[in-house]
Amino acid sequence: MYNEFKNSWKIDIFSEIEEEIKSCSKCLLCKSRTNTVPGEGNLETNLMLVGEGPGFNEDQQGRPFVGDAGKILSELLEIAGFKREDVFIANAVKCRPPNNRTPSINEILTCKPFLVSQIALIEPKYIVILGNAALVSLLGSGFSISKVRGRPREIDNITYLPTYHPAAALYKKNILNIIKEDFLTIKSLTI
Ligand code: URA
Repeated sequence: MYNEFKNSWKIDIFSEIEEEIKSCSKCLLCKSRTNTVPGEGNLETNLMLVGEGPGFNEDQQGRPFVGDAGKILSELLEIAGFKREDVFIANAVKCRPPNNRTPSINEILTCKPFLVSQIALIEPKYIVILGNAALVSLLGSGFSISKVRGRPREIDNITYLPTYHPAAALYKKNILNIIKEDFLTIKSLTI
């Protein structure tokens, strides 16, 4: 009963955040988007994952990680002992950058309040930082993913675990193996 109650107010607030994202025109990415990609998943989860931003498929469907990088992410989640529906998947920016370019720091910071609201609502214990854009959004600039990956750091009761973006593993087996190692770290943290 308590859970149902908790769930329903969380769903309401999540929908409000979603509506704000859908009508957002705070940066130029709104001009070229087909759909916003607010994020999706379990609002009661302990584990949140944050990627860079929507690509072509995500922009078409309005859902995160539904393309090739998404297939890798689902496999990685399995390694950590999770299904997609167990976790919440979000992005640093909610609109697709044209031609899949990297979002600018300005775009990442403009979109950050949405991510912060989502984290405040979900209250995850663990956040997996997938690549540089998420790293800039959540830990600030001045870090390099290759230096900080695989090492959990706790800030304000949330343990952040940075790793490479799954798209970086598409054609590089050595990167895939490193990300797998990091998802085994997630498994050991969350067990
Ligand atoms: N890459 C991302 O960073 N996010 C997505 O949603 C899809 C691909």
